[in-house]
Amino acid sequence: MLTKYKIVFLGDQGVGKTSLITRIMYDTFDSHYAATIGIDFLSKTMYLDDKTIRLQLWDTAGQERFRSLIPSYIRDSNVAIIVYDITNKESFNDVTKWFNVVKEERGSNVLVVLVGNKSDLDNKTITNEEGETLAKKLGCNFFIETSSKNGYNVKNLFKKIGKLLPELQ
Ligand code: GDP
Ligand code: MG
Repeated sequence: MLTKYKIVFLGDQGVGKTSLITRIMYDTFDSHYAATIGIDFLSKTMYLDDKTIRLQLWDTAGQERFRSLIPSYIRDSNVAIIVYDITNKESFNDVTKWFNVVKEERGSNVLVVLVGNKSDLDNKTITNEEGETLAKKLGCNFFIETSSKNGYNVKNLFKKIGKLLPELQ
């Protein structure tokens, strides 16, 4: 089992990657803070059984071209969190592209999690079942709906990842 894990956040621009990282790190939400964090990654300590592990959370700017951005960024990642916005069909349709890029680069050496974010919004266009079905079809480790705005399921997301980490070599 490793003691340091690189977790990359992928998904279209505007789905809430930076907001999720901000929620995880600082337990806050700022709707005006839309800019992608200007540093490579933020570190978070996690306690797993009797072990202390380090998570490196890597933000991306989703608008960058898949091909040019991704390889170096994903190369040594342990977990890929692919995020879509439950009110944005296009961001959901793009999940498969993000998934394929991860698989091309990392094969089976990576855990892949599908996250449907913005669960606090009423104008939902992607149902929980659709998210679940896509995650199963692609072979993601799990699917979860979150809200970085009200914090819904964000801790659970990380608990579930923590449970899977011992599977990684
Ligand atoms: P990124 O481009 O994927 O990093 O997305 P951002 O984190 O910058 O978020 C894009 C916009 O969506 C911002 O205006 C956020 O305030 C908003 N946003 C992010 N997460 C949520 C959420 O869970 N609920 C709602 N209602 N808005 C969110
Ligand atoms: Mg961002």
